Amino acid sequence: MSNFPSTARVVIIGGGAVGASALYHLAKAGWTDCVLLEKNELTAGSTWHAAGNVPTFSASWSIMNMQRYSTELYRDLGKEVDYPMNYHVTGSIRLAHSMERMWEFERAAGMGRYQGMAIDMCSVNDLKNHYPFLEIHDLAGGLYDPNDGDIDPAQLTQALAKGARDLGANIQRFTPAKGVYRRKDEWVVQTEKGDITCEFVVNAAGYYAQRVAEWFKPYGGRTLPMMVMSHQYLLSEEIPEIESWSKSAGHKLPLLRDVDSSYYLRQEKYGLNLGPYENTCKAAWILEDDPMPEDFSFQLYPDDLDRIEWHIEDAMSRVPLLGKAGISKVINGPIPYAPDGNPLIGPMPGVPNAFEACVFTFGIAQGGGAGKVLAEWIIEGQTEWDMWSCDPRRYTDYTDQDYCNQKGMEVYGNEYAMHFPYHEWPAGRDKKISALHSKILELGGVMGAYNGWERANWFAKAGDDTSLESTHTWSRNGPWEQRIREECEAVRDACGVLNLPGFSRFTLKGDGASDFLRGFCTGALPKIGRMNLIYVADKRGRILTEMSCIRLAEESFMLITAATAQWHDKELIEASVPDNIHFEDVTTLQDTLIVTGPQSREILSKISNADLSLAWLTHQQAEVVDKSVYLLRVSFAGELGWEIHASNNDMPKIYQSLLDQGATPFGMYALNSLRLEKGYRAWKGDLSTDYSMFEGGLDRFVKLDKPQDFVGKSALLNERQQGSGKRFVTLIVDAPEADAPYMSTIWKDDQIVGETTSGGWGYRVNASIALGMVKSELAFENCPVQVEIYGKKYDAVVQKDEPIWDPRNERLRA
Ligand SMILES: Cc1cc2nc3c(=O)[nH]c(=O)nc-3n(C[C@H](O)[C@H](O)[C@H](O)COP(=O)(O)OP(=O)(O)OC[C@H]3O[C@@H](n4cnc5c(N)ncnc54)[C@H](O)[C@@H]3O)c2cc1C
Repeated sequence: MSNFPSTARVVIIGGGAVGASALYHLAKAGWTDCVLLEKNELTAGSTWHAAGNVPTFSASWSIMNMQRYSTELYRDLGKEVDYPMNYHVTGSIRLAHSMERMWEFERAAGMGRYQGMAIDMCSVNDLKNHYPFLEIHDLAGGLYDPNDGDIDPAQLTQALAKGARDLGANIQRFTPAKGVYRRKDEWVVQTEKGDITCEFVVNAAGYYAQRVAEWFKPYGGRTLPMMVMSHQYLLSEEIPEIESWSKSAGHKLPLLRDVDSSYYLRQEKYGLNLGPYENTCKAAWILEDDPMPEDFSFQLYPDDLDRIEWHIEDAMSRVPLLGKAGISKVINGPIPYAPDGNPLIGPMPGVPNAFEACVFTFGIAQGGGAGKVLAEWIIEGQTEWDMWSCDPRRYTDYTDQDYCNQKGMEVYGNEYAMHFPYHEWPAGRDKKISALHSKILELGGVMGAYNGWERANWFAKAGDDTSLESTHTWSRNGPWEQRIREECEAVRDACGVLNLPGFSRFTLKGDGASDFLRGFCTGALPKIGRMNLIYVADKRGRILTEMSCIRLAEESFMLITAATAQWHDKELIEASVPDNIHFEDVTTLQDTLIVTGPQSREILSKISNADLSLAWLTHQQAEVVDKSVYLLRVSFAGELGWEIHASNNDMPKIYQSLLDQGATPFGMYALNSLRLEKGYRAWKGDLSTDYSMFEGGLDRFVKLDKPQDFVGKSALLNERQQGSGKRFVTLIVDAPEADAPYMSTIWKDDQIVGETTSGGWGYRVNASIALGMVKSELAFENCPVQVEIYGKKYDAVVQKDEPIWDPRNERLRA
């Protein structure tokens, strides 16, 4: 009798490092009835030829979490599963050619310290001490990460596979999945050896992931956003000086990353491994006459050293020893890229019980953490750390193949680039534009992309420097600063207008809609004719999302959420809304203007028949010029104001009439400043599943005494009794140069006591503001703390628990 399984709880498609890690973590959590299908031998995709570097460094908090976890896992894995493997924790140095780079390192070192890792900043001489063969004359300094290292990727995969098998999980090699279909509430995964019926399917197919995703289209799936790059490293012959140094030191040289020249250089035996991320890069399989082959198992591309000649020469001048050795081997293999370079880990958009763990650019470094995250997604429906940076739902329908190709090449060519706060990457732009786009450009709009939608970040005047180079700074000071100030002042003193295309909007109507919403959100619903904020929590009472809830009739609602939340929130509602309630995503049917400032009523009164005396948080159907609009009396900027929702075609006339009446265009940077002064939280910065509703200071949006049993209620009841460990606060920071970025450490008396969740300059209050979390006992007015911004600690003061601008909302209610 065949022992091929016909049922399983989970089927994972793909046996690279990531698929094996997912299987291992599921099995460790007790889900042993899981099967991994690998079309060839394990590791046949990208894993077998990976260089195996395992850094912890990242500019992203969540990616750093994942990579840190990997290093912790890999240290003991061999012993734990009784599969010894080559894992060398060699440490690494990163070289800085500029002070901007040193600031980046300071920031990552600060995040690392918060995560319990001792990452050190280095002087140029420290670098030389760590790496005696280094040329240092042109360096500004660097960073030493003691946790960095390299692992044999094939051994890692085999160890994870052995661990999973020993726990009872099943691995089927040389068994390609051929397709899937849905039978009742289950998946059937088809193979030549038989079908497997299962509850959950995971696409862990590496660079084949887009192909596998096609099978899910009949069940709500989409084209998976990815492309493939050809990536090379070369191995040098052995170098006697490295051999004698290693032997006398008793260890390998630390891995060297010259990030400003965009390559890494790692000791491999007694030679060196050089891996560049070249700007003159090459996408693979993007041309019609060069499609991805049906099978590329254990294959490589031909060497292409011309492309990386500059990097070879640069590395030879940095470590002249490299020039003494010939090249012994070149590896040129496929490496998948999502448009932002982060992997896809989490629920497959639109498809029930299907998950993704694919498109890993650094799947060896991230594989351990990714397996943990994926297993949590499947078993718990939630993850320990907020993982939005990797959530497949962060992309929506704008990611066509051209976009993926452009962005993938941009990310690869800038793999080690710094991500400055006022910099917008230029590739793949103009995917979604409002009917006002050309007008906004004409007015000087300097644009940014939000869920693919182009919005003005700020408005430049003649002579302002809008070059990309001008944004290469961590400082708030730049050509934009004076303009943002002017825009904020226009909103404060007169009237501003901002076009916000892509606001996610959903309608929900039908008998039972209000009952459904009451059980869906944590708080109360507005009365008819009014609107308020509602929040959705997860089982732990942590913040899943925030929506503006507009009640149109007893059983009819409009829900408005952040542009980037579109697919996330759509799925959240769809997962629990009863069939008899009509739910629709109407995001693209209308566009939005924010009209706000003390003169907004006067301006609107000249061009609208609306009843502008209606109170704050009301809404009405009206006309602006002769166009039908929906007006919401609300302002994220914290001034008297309205949102105008109208059909896309009508917007140019409405916008022009507002300009004619004297409204000043303002942009997203000004809006961010204005909302910080009001303490309004932004989604996936201040509002995330890292925090509970109470930690987030959202107590007034939680109605524990309502009869409905909403998700998270029991956890929140418990937290209410036990007390919250952290508490949301607004801080004023004495930060002259740069504002606190996300996840800057908050200190008190040399102890870490919290972290910022967003920061920026408040032009109405003339102060640097940070929103964040501190230990509850420190969340009181005037508590002095310090905020670490790019390595320096600045004095900060906790503010009273109310908005620092217009605390009683008098301007909003005016
Ligand atoms: C030259 C080079 C150097 C690299 N160096 C590093 C490094 O130093 N550090 C690092 O972290 N990353 C590195 N990477 C990236 C790393 O190789 C990948 O991120 C990682 O291997 C991805 O692992 P994976 O499991 O997601 O995908 P893969 O290893 O590609 O595994 C996917 C598997 O799915 C299987 N599969 C596909 N379709 C099916 C199907 N229908 N049925 C069954 N099985 C299927 C494939 O055969 C394959 O084995 C490097 C990449 C390259 C090209």
